[in-house]
Amino acid sequence: MNQKVFRAYYVWPDFPSISLSGEACALNCLHCGAVYLKDMMPATTPETLEQLCNQLKNEGARGVLLSGGCDKHGRMLNLEKLLPAIRKVHDMGLIIKLHTGFVDVRLARKIADAGVDIASMEMVGNAKTVKKIFGLDATAEDYLLTFKNLWDAGIPQICPHVCVGLHEGKLKGEITALELLKTEIEPSSIAIIVLRPTKGTKLAEIAPPTGEDVEKVVSHARKLFPRTKIILGALRPRGSESKGRITERVDIEIGALDGGIDGAEVPSKEMLAEVVSRGFEIKKIQAYGVLPVEYENRVKIE
Ligand code: SF4
Repeated sequence: MNQKVFRAYYVWPDFPSISLSGEACALNCLHCGAVYLKDMMPATTPETLEQLCNQLKNEGARGVLLSGGCDKHGRMLNLEKLLPAIRKVHDMGLIIKLHTGFVDVRLARKIADAGVDIASMEMVGNAKTVKKIFGLDATAEDYLLTFKNLWDAGIPQICPHVCVGLHEGKLKGEITALELLKTEIEPSSIAIIVLRPTKGTKLAEIAPPTGEDVEKVVSHARKLFPRTKIILGALRPRGSESKGRITERVDIEIGALDGGIDGAEVPSKEMLAEVVSRGFEIKKIQAYGVLPVEYENRVKIE
């Protein structure tokens, strides 16, 4: 019998993150406050995006994550004007994961024409959470419509992110988010991320979700999407961030394992030991966790 495979993903250095808006963002989400944009490489014009990607490719990158800040309606800043440059990045042979923000039918088609390999976007299942955390007047159906538009445009891989505990650390719309997705699309991967209280944001001091919360959401995703790759994303509370939190992080990772994930970004050594003890073979992949299995021949694997 074939041994079960657990995929361990290591994003850096082969899949760097680029912000298409630099540090600019018109939203000031409670959990982020644009803090995460500071860790990304800025490229806000077609010329700088092309140059940067060329340089990264020459230095050995296999792909890029294109993300950035949003306008006040939740649409990605600069995205449309950068799509011709994104096409050139695709033609260089880099695997492109684009965080899309809200898109209508027209923009979804343009994203597909630009050769984006993987489109990702958060899926939020509760309008009160959207208002509270993002400050947006958008419903779960508005999020779903973006996924439908991406799907109808024929983008090869669509990868929703569902954040456990987005509602200030508590479970609220996660299950609805997954159930709505099921009505419209068949995602190639689902990334489960976990609200991480982050220094410099308004949610820095909240209690993060528990391992049980994570297990609940992952096992529901597993049940709804039995053939989809489900991974635990790197964005989750990390034990190394503050003293005494190490148990909490392992708890989250074990909860995700119990729920039935297929892999995790930057797993801790405790998680890997648990994976081995459960009889899995570990496949270490230099890429982001939503990399489609059929792209694995294009990246480094141990
Ligand atoms: S829109 Fe994105 S970058 Fe801006 S604050 Fe919200 S999560 Fe952060």
